[in-house]
Amino acid sequence: MTTTTTDQTPPEITFDSFGLDARIQRALSEQGYTKPTPIQEQAIPVVLLGKDVMGAAQTGTGKTAGFALPIIQRLLPMANASASPARHPVRALMLTPTRELADQVYDNVARYARFTDLRSTVVFGGVDMNPQTEALRRGVEILVATPGRLLDHVQQKSVNLSQVQMLVLDEADRMLDMGFLPDLQRIINLLPAQRQTLLFSATFSTEIKRLAASYLREPVTIEVARSNSANENVRQTVFQVEDGHKQAAVVHLLKKRAADGLSRQCIVFVNSKIGCSRLARHLEREGINAAAIHGDKTQTERMQTLDGFKQGSIDALVATDVAARGLDIPDMPCVINFDLPYSAEDYVHRIGRTGRAGASGDALSIYVPGDERLLVDIEKLLKRSIPRTPLEGFDPTGASARAEEGDRRRARSSDVRRPRGNGESEEPRPRRNDPASSRNAFRPSDDSFFSRPYEPSSSAVGAQPDVTDSNAAAFGRGRPAPKRQLAALLGGVPRKS
Ligand code: AMP
Repeated sequence: MTTTTTDQTPPEITFDSFGLDARIQRALSEQGYTKPTPIQEQAIPVVLLGKDVMGAAQTGTGKTAGFALPIIQRLLPMANASASPARHPVRALMLTPTRELADQVYDNVARYARFTDLRSTVVFGGVDMNPQTEALRRGVEILVATPGRLLDHVQQKSVNLSQVQMLVLDEADRMLDMGFLPDLQRIINLLPAQRQTLLFSATFSTEIKRLAASYLREPVTIEVARSNSANENVRQTVFQVEDGHKQAAVVHLLKKRAADGLSRQCIVFVNSKIGCSRLARHLEREGINAAAIHGDKTQTERMQTLDGFKQGSIDALVATDVAARGLDIPDMPCVINFDLPYSAEDYVHRIGRTGRAGASGDALSIYVPGDERLLVDIEKLLKRSIPRTPLEGFDPTGASARAEEGDRRRARSSDVRRPRGNGESEEPRPRRNDPASSRNAFRPSDDSFFSRPYEPSSSAVGAQPDVTDSNAAAFGRGRPAPKRQLAALLGGVPRKS
């Protein structure tokens, strides 16, 4: 008997291996994608088979193409060039927690489908509904949406979801954190029971598992990294400094990176909107090109800031969690946590901004002695310890260093707010209708400039917006004034977009 030696190396998987249509492959070549990422390798064949998916995918892994490409492929037989809206019903619905993520997902979908006759559009809150309504009325096969604004359109009857065959819940963990569960339930109830559902989440909490159990059928679980783990390409360092020296520490880190010839670009995370603006101003005074991005900025301001950052005129993007959620900035070399987040899961999301699509990155965190509990929570979630490192020139004990008096005061006042404060909030509020809300009564609130739990907009119900609340008016939702009063008391009134 003879034995033949065979080469055991499995053949390299390419986009060709999935049998994707030539028009999709052409779009991928134009994007410069040469081979699928691990999540794409796993997700594309399963989605093509029509199976439900529960995907644990970190930010930056290429998960958008992982679900968008097979969806486009499956919809191709229905693609047509007819001008009749009836020939273009919504067949795939992709829900995301924030407008930025919705915009990015849509941007990707539009690129991948650009050589096909499939139509796509995006709807999210905070902007005029009319252009969205017109696009919906013309007919689209693929609709990307945030839940609140989608329900506005449903209410206005500008969209019909009765022919949806595929539903994607992207960043489902964040949608639940933001209190979107009731909205999701309302939306899902409008969809045909016979459909394919794909749920993606960076973390798999009990609530997410419950959501999956309610709406997914025998899902295939896809996991490219341990759930609740952080990207392996990211070097994580925690610098222990004296309370009150956090601003100086960030300046030091940014200047040192520049002096070491490393990229100057960095996202700096701050827990509150006020702290975010304050740090951006401080960095500017120190000669660092910085800009703040948070929920009290108008959509135009935020887009301008993001463009400036992408084009390199801004080096330090100082952001709150909600504002930074879903920002797709490829090859982000560095993330700094000016404040450790109150939720360990937010830490995973934050550092997911760097080390994306296989690149390496640095996640630097400033830590003051009172942050120990937050750091321990993060380590528990990551199932590994992060070394506390002294920062050159900074005394972690606080015995000798000169205090930044203003910072001390602010640190004290934010400590007073801390048990209630969170995320971006100077306006903490409990999650609504969430079984966990009593436990997490003051988990990160959503951002008034993002889509949020559904309340029919005044334009949707035909009433006039409450013009006494500029923020509500900007949304076309007749919101009462307390939020504005609270914001004013704390020094910032939401601006009109
Ligand atoms: P996502 O996780 O979907 O936000 O994707 C993160 C980044 O990776 C985006 O900038 C994508 O354009 C990029 N990307 C996705 N798939 C690939 C691929 N196969 N090759 C190279 N880049 C990719």
